[in-house]
Amino acid sequence: MSDQHAVNSEREAKLLASVPTGLLIGGQWRDASDGGTFDVHDPATGEVLATLASATSEDAVAALDAADAVQASWARTAPRVRAEILRRAFDLITERAADFALLMTLEMGKPLAEARGEVTYGAEFLRWFSEETVRDYGRYLTSPEGKNKILVQHKPVGPCLLITPWNFPLAMATRKVAPAIAAGCTMVLKPAKLTPLTSQLFAQVMLEAGLPAGVLNVVSSSSASGISGPLLKDSRLKKVSFTGSTPVGRRLMADAAHNVLRTSMELGGNAPFIVFDDADLDKAVEGAMAAKMRNMGEACTAANRFLVQESVAQEFTRKFAAAMGALTTGRGTEADSKVGPLIDAGARDDVHALVTAAVDAGATALTGGSPVDGPGYFYQPTVLGGVPNDAAILAQEIFGPVAPITTFATEEDAIRLANTSEYGLASYLYSRDFNRLLRVAEQIEFGMVGFNAGVISNAAAPFGGVKQSGLGREGGTEGIAEYTTTQYIGIADPYAP
Ligand code: NAD
Repeated sequence: MSDQHAVNSEREAKLLASVPTGLLIGGQWRDASDGGTFDVHDPATGEVLATLASATSEDAVAALDAADAVQASWARTAPRVRAEILRRAFDLITERAADFALLMTLEMGKPLAEARGEVTYGAEFLRWFSEETVRDYGRYLTSPEGKNKILVQHKPVGPCLLITPWNFPLAMATRKVAPAIAAGCTMVLKPAKLTPLTSQLFAQVMLEAGLPAGVLNVVSSSSASGISGPLLKDSRLKKVSFTGSTPVGRRLMADAAHNVLRTSMELGGNAPFIVFDDADLDKAVEGAMAAKMRNMGEACTAANRFLVQESVAQEFTRKFAAAMGALTTGRGTEADSKVGPLIDAGARDDVHALVTAAVDAGATALTGGSPVDGPGYFYQPTVLGGVPNDAAILAQEIFGPVAPITTFATEEDAIRLANTSEYGLASYLYSRDFNRLLRVAEQIEFGMVGFNAGVISNAAAPFGGVKQSGLGREGGTEGIAEYTTTQYIGIADPYAP
């Protein structure tokens, strides 16, 4: 073992030892009611990183008890006080950016530089919503007939269940927790069992920032439905906000119907990346690399279908395949790693099955096309040329470093192909003609459109999808509205005798 490796391992061990391993309920870290635990693994090596308490249904109800007990007092807490807690949390996470980045690399696999990027992006939701907390305006107006008065105010919706996926362990949590705090809601957070460590550390930072006990409760668990099941039936729960796959989202929406719960659903995507013949091809390749390879392709916003106009397809494909082929895979902590492992063996096998089926259907692997031997769940950055339009790989989320390319003849074809998906989250358009970009944006069915940009996520922008990509928006001025309810007060004519 090299000295550098020993130093790194020591730093990793120290960081891992600082992460709380219990459930956070009512401000206390505690064991699961049945003493159960589960392991968290490093996807680059398969080794166990930590063992956490695994919440039971009983623990989930205890967490809701805690959230419900402080909901009324938290709702009455001055907006400025809530805002300053969020701002302090932003400062603390920024100070500890290196720790948060390393923790995410360890449990999720992304290269450290990307993990640093996620810390910046994820922390920004705390700062953005600290600013939004004091600007949640209602309205007061005279009714049209000129007599009565109309007063409209926003109130916190109440205790929320927040369920997050494994792919962005910090940002997916801050995107929900920050607006819930801004609105005055209490909450039960259930992180993904594959990457719960970041949420555990994040919750500790929220307590350090002054968040009162019971406002944020964290129930990491190996049984997701054991947590959501009893809570969705409990009339004290007022909302569920979920980020994850469309099939799980559908099931949660069905369960949420029981109590007619408010829901926010950030679900899967199948982003088209459309390159028109008048695009700057070098910029398009740069954008394609970002849109495809961020998070090893394990992103709901990942470009999944490369639609390239026929006359530029050859040149774009050649340049893109060369750039993809030059990427180095490796454990995210290694300085030259540009592509980390996929999250687990199942994810890697699913990606390979899609690639194999596409090749069988007539596509060509221009670079990559196979899993990487050795420990960990690495997959080669892959570009597939000549993919038939009906190939399965174009119809579902790939969630891996694989770029299928297909061609189109006209603008109308591009729009039609883009809209064939049941998903409607992110999309990317490359052209030098602004009118064309606007024209296409108006006709494609996606919640988010990038113009000559491969990364569009931003805390100040409304993130979310249409069709089966979900309901609701996170971030922007829209984000806080997901956690408030509108109350109208009708006031009788004050001039009436
Ligand atoms: P997933 O649906 O398997 O799991 C998401 C979360 O739901 C996890 O916490 C999981 O434990 C929990 N869960 C699973 N089954 C459940 C059940 N029956 N009841 C309650 N909770 C349950 O998704 P994933 O594999 O963690 O994440 C990848 C998916 O998330 C992809 O489809 C991706 O597109 C999507 N995603 C969407 C966005 C977005 O903002 N739209 C962002 C990131 C990821």
